[in-house]
Amino acid sequence: MKKILVTGSLGQIGSELVTYMRGIYGNDNVIATDLRRIDGCEAVESGPFEILDVLDAKKMGEVAKKHNVDTIIHLAALLSAVAEAKPVLAWEINMGGLFNALEVARELKCSFFTPSSIGAFGPSTPKDNTPQDTIQRPETMYGVTKVSGELLCDYYYKKFGVDTRGVRFPGLISYVAPPGGGTTDYAVDIYYKALEDKKYTSYINKGTYMDMMYMPDALKAIVNLMEADSSKLVHRNAFNITAMSFEPEMIAAEIKKHISEFEMSYNVDPVRQAIANSWPDSIDSTCAKEEWGFKANYDLASMTIDMLEKLRVKLNIR
Ligand code: NAD
Repeated sequence: MKKILVTGSLGQIGSELVTYMRGIYGNDNVIATDLRRIDGCEAVESGPFEILDVLDAKKMGEVAKKHNVDTIIHLAALLSAVAEAKPVLAWEINMGGLFNALEVARELKCSFFTPSSIGAFGPSTPKDNTPQDTIQRPETMYGVTKVSGELLCDYYYKKFGVDTRGVRFPGLISYVAPPGGGTTDYAVDIYYKALEDKKYTSYINKGTYMDMMYMPDALKAIVNLMEADSSKLVHRNAFNITAMSFEPEMIAAEIKKHISEFEMSYNVDPVRQAIANSWPDSIDSTCAKEEWGFKANYDLASMTIDMLEKLRVKLNIR
């Protein structure tokens, strides 16, 4: 990777990924783009930034050519809960945007990364230690677009030789940018509310296990996969990766170790609970470990310490 174009770069992942990659590849070599501009945001201020709607295929090609990019990191998408509320728009953006980005990669011979998700699995998928290659019959529009996206990326590699790569991210937990409307967002919100109010009402029910990962591990995974030796990759797109699996009571208990007054209650949202119920309890990331050395450094305990420490500074709470 030498010149990298990032779509959807002001979201939860992009706003940290751009800074992380600029630190590795140089500020001018990471071109941040998004539908909107947020002045003051580091991804906008610390290097090149362009307004780019991923549905505008012509402009995407022009921006990529103008900056002479050799890699596209395609992040623009609607997340699970938003996609369920706006399924038609979700299909348009998640599939139309991906198709446009793959076409630009094909034309300009770019390497290509896009994330899939644990949302690519469904109720008939084995729930525990979910294998890399298994049944994928998701029942959400988000999941439908993620499975279709995995297949489309495989197709572009096999048919056109585009160097497509990707991971199935679990729920990502971070303190820089707010999450964009996913099912696992509770595991971010809980830290803010624990510090601000000493209590949190969870929309996900107790006993609901989902895979999660702290953002620093996710950023490292993207760069490591993109820099991996191509000949070692048996799978290319949609590698299962995970750092931890927990249910709401477990994250609450971990927070209580640091904020003893913290209390958790429940007001379950049936839409997001149904999505969570259809996802695995824990996934198996053996293929990612074997093929490109994936490793997560943070577990629930170390992530909780870091989240609370960073958020205390961000929210100015002692
Ligand atoms: P996000 O919702 O936080 O950010 C998405 C960004 O895309 C936003 O900045 C938005 O402005 C932009 N966008 C939306 N429509 C666009 C368009 N038409 N053109 C250009 N930009 C547009 O999402 P995120 O959490 O950063 O997720 C990025 C990718 O990672 C998505 O593909 C998502 O499915 C995947 N993923 C995320 C998680 C997670 O927990 N965050 C987990 C699994 C997979």
